[in-house]
Amino acid sequence: MKGPTPSRLYKYFVRRLRLGGYLEEPGDGRSLPQIPASSLLWALILARVLRVASFHGVERLGQARPGALGLERPFGDDALAYFTERLDPEGTRRALVSLLRRAKRNKAFDGSARIGLAVDGSGAGRSQKRTCRLCHAQGKGHGHRFAAISVVGAGLDLPFDVEFYAPGENELTAAKRLLERAVRNLGPRFADYLVVDGLYAGSPFLHLAEDLGLPVVAALKANLPELYQAARRRFENTRPHARFEHNGGHVELWDADDFIAWHELRWPRVRVLRYRHVRPDGQVFDAYWLTNLPTRRIGPRALFLMAKSRWAIENQGFNDAKNRYGLGHIPHHHPTSVVVDALLTFLAMGLERLYRLRYLRRGTHPPYSAMHFHVLLWLNLGDSEPYDTS
Ligand SMILES: [Zn+2]
Repeated sequence: MKGPTPSRLYKYFVRRLRLGGYLEEPGDGRSLPQIPASSLLWALILARVLRVASFHGVERLGQARPGALGLERPFGDDALAYFTERLDPEGTRRALVSLLRRAKRNKAFDGSARIGLAVDGSGAGRSQKRTCRLCHAQGKGHGHRFAAISVVGAGLDLPFDVEFYAPGENELTAAKRLLERAVRNLGPRFADYLVVDGLYAGSPFLHLAEDLGLPVVAALKANLPELYQAARRRFENTRPHARFEHNGGHVELWDADDFIAWHELRWPRVRVLRYRHVRPDGQVFDAYWLTNLPTRRIGPRALFLMAKSRWAIENQGFNDAKNRYGLGHIPHHHPTSVVVDALLTFLAMGLERLYRLRYLRRGTHPPYSAMHFHVLLWLNLGDSEPYDTS
């Protein structure tokens, strides 16, 4: 088994994922560029896989190991700042969608599972003073806020688009723009469902998802008081409709599809699922979810798994992006660079996950852990195997 090296990762990116065209023409807006876009872009992507977040760190990496980055000559961090300020984010969005489509075609997702999309909001990047139009006042400083979307529930969680919003806008408005764009780019039949938190459970967002052809699974909380109370009245103090073992603990389910929709919601009836999940450590999670997925097509147990898949966007999406890949760090404080940086972080995560968990896993070799892979890639940086860019 050959371990990971930068040039093998590059070959995988260009030949298997077929993203060489993106490296050549990513939407470079520089006039008279001195350094090819493909060099700067690949350095940024590889640096993110190596978890080097700052442009200064990328510059130093390029100086220390130009061969490992496939560079003919090193560049300064100012070249990266200038490049990302002028890079059209749409090129990287298209590359991410192309990566997802290829993953689906190559059966990288669980064959048995349904492919979900999760949308959620978060914040990242702190600064002392207001520096760009995306800066929100936050505590004593400033920060950026966004809605992001991820593939979830199919064995491989892949965040793939982000929408930052300015002060005066809100997460829901950004999430609507994001969802419309994501479904337009992915195509209508890519995913089987959308899963969201209670904030999104209002009728405008549910109607938008329906118009886009996506059934929705949304957390049902006290912000929908009538339906929430009706479901609690019906399900509490009644025996569960199903019970099964789950990850060493157990789950009890209540499920009914004849709840009356609230006034603004145009669905004829609402289906509500309640689960009570007791984990092996004794922690209990009691939650209500609403959906327009029909009972005859999706049983309560499958619906439970869809609801649970929402946590992936926080754990394998936001938390990994921030803790492992440095999304909280602002390498260059410019509104376009901030968007580009988040998209490149998602692209690096997708590349790493597909390569490590799917490509290297072929045969009998068990997959490397994220940490093991990361260490091996660093150890192999000195490997002067030349890049084959033919
Ligand atoms: Zn800012």
